[in-house]
Amino acid sequence: MKIKALALISGGLDSLLSAKLVHDQGVEVIGVHFKIPFCKLNIRKVFPDIGIEIIEVDLSQEFLKLIEEPCYGFGANMNPCIDCKILMFSKARELMSRMGAKFVITGEVLGQRPMSQNKQALKLIKRQSGLDDLLLRPLSAKFFPPSLAEKEGWVKREELFNFNGRRRTAQMQLAKDLGLLKYSTPAGGCLLTDPCFCRRLQELLSHKELDLDNLALLKVGRHFRIGNNARLVVGREKDENDLLMRLARPGDYLFGPQKDLAGPTALARGLITPELTFLASEITSAYTDAVGLKEIEVLYRQVPAAKDNMHKILHVSKSRFAHLLI
Ligand code: SF4
Repeated sequence: MKIKALALISGGLDSLLSAKLVHDQGVEVIGVHFKIPFCKLNIRKVFPDIGIEIIEVDLSQEFLKLIEEPCYGFGANMNPCIDCKILMFSKARELMSRMGAKFVITGEVLGQRPMSQNKQALKLIKRQSGLDDLLLRPLSAKFFPPSLAEKEGWVKREELFNFNGRRRTAQMQLAKDLGLLKYSTPAGGCLLTDPCFCRRLQELLSHKELDLDNLALLKVGRHFRIGNNARLVVGREKDENDLLMRLARPGDYLFGPQKDLAGPTALARGLITPELTFLASEITSAYTDAVGLKEIEVLYRQVPAAKDNMHKILHVSKSRFAHLLI
């Protein structure tokens, strides 16, 4: 019977190469893709067919807890990379026993990321996740003592690599050698490395509004702080308008311009007083195509009500609300 291993699949080239190298040595590799609320990747679309099964595991709730106070701090933005890896690797450790796997494969490369892939961090992650020598990093294996898979002869150490540093030339050459011509490059796919997103996230945290629904909202539209406990999100294009309609939960308010006028959908969430519905209507009207119109009707309703209410709004410029933008 074949030895089984779990390969952590991020969607990028390094994890693909690592899984393929071990798979090609005759090990049954099962790919595990962990879903967190900050990556939009559709793994089934981007991961090429190399003959391994991929399972997806949702870590959203666990991730929410660590983003508030990561033990090992943040990287350049709000990316708690060390804690994130410890969480994922610990989950892989749990999955191993359930799936009958003997070891875990990752695509980490020594020195590739300053925070989480320096020698010390790699050691720490291996220990804190409980994986220890059950962890195999095929692309940089030769920098580390042999793992269990190598010691047991399940994987030939001489066919593993000593890649290090930030340059990807060696990985790209290896991909060519392995016949992998199509692969994704999702560098920067994690929103926690995006300063703009992190500013919004920080603001959300400071108002103690962190939950999965609010996070989903954070990825859409322009955000306005309209009250201490209230925000307004204004769609920037049709897709965002549609998405806001879908993200609305009971109690939220939806706003839109009168039927014959092009303009955004806006969603207000929180403690929305009648005064705030008026302010939200004013902001919505400022983003309509109201050329030559002095007065605009903004329709609004509280979800799930079907019936619209209406405010007549004197059209004003967007700049009037710039101070409320997050
Ligand atoms: S960049 Fe994001 S997904 Fe990647 S390790 Fe860091 S926190 Fe986790």
